[in-house]
Amino acid sequence: MARKKLIAANWKMYKNPTQTEEFFNHFLPLVHGHERDEVVVCPPYIDLHAAMESAKGSQIAIGAQDVYWKDEGAFTGEISPAMLVAIGCTHAIIGHSERRQYFAETDDTVNLKLKAALQHGLTPIVCVGEVLEEREAGLTEDVLRRQCVRAFHAISAKKAAKLVIAYEPVWAIGTGKTATPQMASDAHILIRGEAAKAFGQEFADGLRILYGGSVKPENAKALMSETEIDGALVGGASLDAKAFSAIVKY
Ligand code: PEP
Repeated sequence: MARKKLIAANWKMYKNPTQTEEFFNHFLPLVHGHERDEVVVCPPYIDLHAAMESAKGSQIAIGAQDVYWKDEGAFTGEISPAMLVAIGCTHAIIGHSERRQYFAETDDTVNLKLKAALQHGLTPIVCVGEVLEEREAGLTEDVLRRQCVRAFHAISAKKAAKLVIAYEPVWAIGTGKTATPQMASDAHILIRGEAAKAFGQEFADGLRILYGGSVKPENAKALMSETEIDGALVGGASLDAKAFSAIVKY
């Protein structure tokens, strides 16, 4: 089954609204007319409005880097899926390893966020991946299995329709180290197998699994050429319009 690739930018905690506008002024002409892949930019919350305004009329979608699971309430500092949808946001990254590492994100909160995002029609990009110690101890498969099983818990295939997974080996994020296309493919096959168990084979065949971890213009083509790799989640290299456009057009 042909799966349209998704190339997603995770800006992390970089850029203000002015810098966001500057990025799009530079980026949009570079990817004008590029329809082969879906492209989404996920800036910090305070830049969402500027990003949305800048990308208006283009094929670029705008997403958030996180989302809470409640609709509204006394949850200081949080943003709900309904709020994101209300401003025109279409995607949300969930369970990024930096949120797991620094902000106590767990497999269970990932599951709550995933359910809430799907409920509100967002396209969730759920991040899974092992840390270096886990890979070295031969635990990669166990970790990916656990993360998938818990993330997918109590979600039906119908509800999960928009789900996207990003396999991000934590040791490859921001380090310049990249998983080989073979390593990424092996992980993607395992993740697809877990999706088949949870949602059925047909769903799994259509599920997009992105690779993330030091994707650069120089390695994008080799990674994207793997049949198992359905796109990329790009951190550092997505901050530069020229580099990100080169990845989009690999
Ligand atoms: C990320 O932030 O998800 C990421 C993969 O970062 P980088 O591309 O910088 O490794």
